[in-house]
Amino acid sequence: MISVQEALRILQDNIPPARRDMVPLEAAYGNFLYEDQIAPEPSPRYTSSAMDGFAVRWADCAHATREHPVALELIGESQAGIPFDGLVRGGSAVRISTGAVLPDGADTVIRQEDTRETGDHVEILAIHALGQDVRRQGEEFHAGDLLLARGTRLAARELALLAAFGICLVPVHVQPQVSLLVTGTELARPDDQQIKPHQIRDSNSIMLASAVRDAGAILRSIVRVSDSLKETIAAIEQAVAADVDVILCSGGVSVGQHDHVKEGALAAGFTELFWKISQKPGKPLLACRRGNTLLFGLPGNPVSAFMCFSNYVRPVLATLQGTSSVSRTLTARSPERLVNSGKRTNFIRVTVEEHPNELAIIREMARQGSHMLSSIVHADGYIVLEPGEVLEANGLIEVVLF
Ligand code: AMP
Ligand code: MG
Repeated sequence: MISVQEALRILQDNIPPARRDMVPLEAAYGNFLYEDQIAPEPSPRYTSSAMDGFAVRWADCAHATREHPVALELIGESQAGIPFDGLVRGGSAVRISTGAVLPDGADTVIRQEDTRETGDHVEILAIHALGQDVRRQGEEFHAGDLLLARGTRLAARELALLAAFGICLVPVHVQPQVSLLVTGTELARPDDQQIKPHQIRDSNSIMLASAVRDAGAILRSIVRVSDSLKETIAAIEQAVAADVDVILCSGGVSVGQHDHVKEGALAAGFTELFWKISQKPGKPLLACRRGNTLLFGLPGNPVSAFMCFSNYVRPVLATLQGTSSVSRTLTARSPERLVNSGKRTNFIRVTVEEHPNELAIIREMARQGSHMLSSIVHADGYIVLEPGEVLEANGLIEVVLF
């Protein structure tokens, strides 16, 4: 059996390089950039109006007030998408809409509310400053400015920025693809109305499928097999043929007569990286590698499967996307004395009670059974206690939040 740290180190040493690709914007959602993105042009692209109103020369109406309005001749219009192609000379004005090009000669925009139209003239009733309500070309970005740094995750806001600059092919780390292989002769589908008394419902499929999504990876397939070596090998080979990055197996990874995942993985050409970690829950975790494909054998107990996914698989999926998965942690106080009297690293699920201006308080979940989903569903996170470690009453400890 190896330690938690050793297992993590072996994994880090065996993660294949994150795959890169140039993908169209439409396919880039959720991916991480592997190169800085630079503005190819200024933004705004041209000097325009920030308001619906009139483009004028400031010098013409610098002193306009409601009591002493200044009348300017209305000589045309600049509409968003249809610029005015003349010159605004002294004594004239051009009607302008938000986002429309500021015509040559004009330097200021008077919003509609501060004007009054009189036939072919417009009266300026108020003006505040030279250049008011004008959006200057390049006031946000100059050509060559940094738009997005490498490592940025692309979602709604970032994709909008790239689209605004006409960057339509983006260099990203491709989201890793995962196949799920769920073993267990005892398993029934959650919607099985004829479930037999000796069966249990397969809750790991939906849990792991969701966890894969949460981790930003793409779930390619879920295959369910009974506890048969032949079926297990066939399913692993099928996943290999589909060229996924990670094969996630559930169950069948302990020492029982009917646990076939390890043998199946070796038969399908995988090499063992480690099997069994000195931890609770999740001792039988298996990790294998075949070329650039990693295979994890997660224990079938739902809590073990989830904790192993969080601690070992999620960081791998993050690295494969060119990023890292940082769990949120906080320092909390335990009113009770907590002891790990066992020989394995213990991941103890706890609830966290937040208190304003005080440290949060943790309480150990009464039920820590690895078959009891409540120990992760109703918990807020977990603490790690090494073998023999004692946390005295009111002692402080780091909590990893789910
Ligand atoms: P195993 O790791 O295959 O020995 O399974 C350990 C325990 O987890 C057994 O009690 C199984 O019934 C349970 N188990 C295995 N697979 C699943 C699953 N997909 N959903 C829920 N429980 C499971
Ligand atoms: Mg099993």
